[in-house]
Amino acid sequence: MQAITKEGAVSMSFWLTGDLHVHSNHDSDGFLSVAEVVERSRAYCDFLAISGHALLSDNWGVDQYASVLAAREANPGLFIFHTGEWEFPVPRHTIVLTTPDQGEFELQRELVRRFDRRAGVVGRERALEGLRYIEGTWGEEKALMIFNHPDSPAVPLDDLVALAGSPVFKIMACYDRGERRASQTWEVGAEWDQLLMRGHRLWVRFGSDFHKHFTDGHTDYYPGEFVQDQVKVQEKSYQGIFDAYRTGNYFCTVDNLIHGLEVRYEGGLHVSFQCREEVEYFEIIGDGRVLETISPVPERFDRRLSVPPASYYRLRGHGREKTRKYSAGTYRPVFMSNPVFISEAS
Ligand SMILES: [Zn+2]
Ligand SMILES: [Zn+2]
Repeated sequence: MQAITKEGAVSMSFWLTGDLHVHSNHDSDGFLSVAEVVERSRAYCDFLAISGHALLSDNWGVDQYASVLAAREANPGLFIFHTGEWEFPVPRHTIVLTTPDQGEFELQRELVRRFDRRAGVVGRERALEGLRYIEGTWGEEKALMIFNHPDSPAVPLDDLVALAGSPVFKIMACYDRGERRASQTWEVGAEWDQLLMRGHRLWVRFGSDFHKHFTDGHTDYYPGEFVQDQVKVQEKSYQGIFDAYRTGNYFCTVDNLIHGLEVRYEGGLHVSFQCREEVEYFEIIGDGRVLETISPVPERFDRRLSVPPASYYRLRGHGREKTRKYSAGTYRPVFMSNPVFISEAS
């Protein structure tokens, strides 16, 4: 992709596909080594994060970090983040993402040492303290937090509203492990929409939560095999990927249902994307409700849509029912965009 900026300079952008929620055998419930996870994900991912269970220890992550460093060495061109599932003071699992040049190992270790719920650091105030620690020590532009599976257990809206006041809290997960998706982000008008309606700029992401694959006797898909985050980067780098997540410059798919999604608002909603499989319909959601349903959807969609006024717009698309690859039954591939905001952030 190439675009001429207002200044006349040529700027390039690229789409990269990946997954930020992945376990290895450094976790008691993981199965493959980091090297094996990477080997089996390469066909699906341009980047991934190894996000092991960050459990109480003086020096959490030493072994995983060594494996990540070795995997980077062995796989030039693939971006492998080191992170961990933090036992957050508001239950339960979050991950904090940063780039390799920002003390990635120390960040994970310090979160476990200072703010581990299992060590008795519990509740909203302590969670906010943890986020302020990240803001103060790493900086809000250098680290971001993702709430993994916010449905397990269900995170109360009041807590999310309080946490969303921190610029470090950026993302909530929808798909996590198999076909499980959190109602907080999937359902129209649920917690995510409630936060967007309050002006908080929060994004959604999909992840595999890979532990052990179907072919090894379990029920997980490989990273990027079933769900994907497709991020738009200005440069193919850790920083480029991080910036796309921080600014919401990406969208999420099941089965790579669509590619190259662009949504922008200029008097109307300009939407373009390429279908990789048939999209039966998609919804335009704004201010917590479905504003329009678009169907049929041609293979190459590129239109200006008129929409009723709303403070933000986001899309949710649905493919055709299809048979599962490894287990019985059927499912529908989907896609979800991040919101475009019409009013200034509060
Ligand atoms: Zn988890
Ligand atoms: Zn997990």
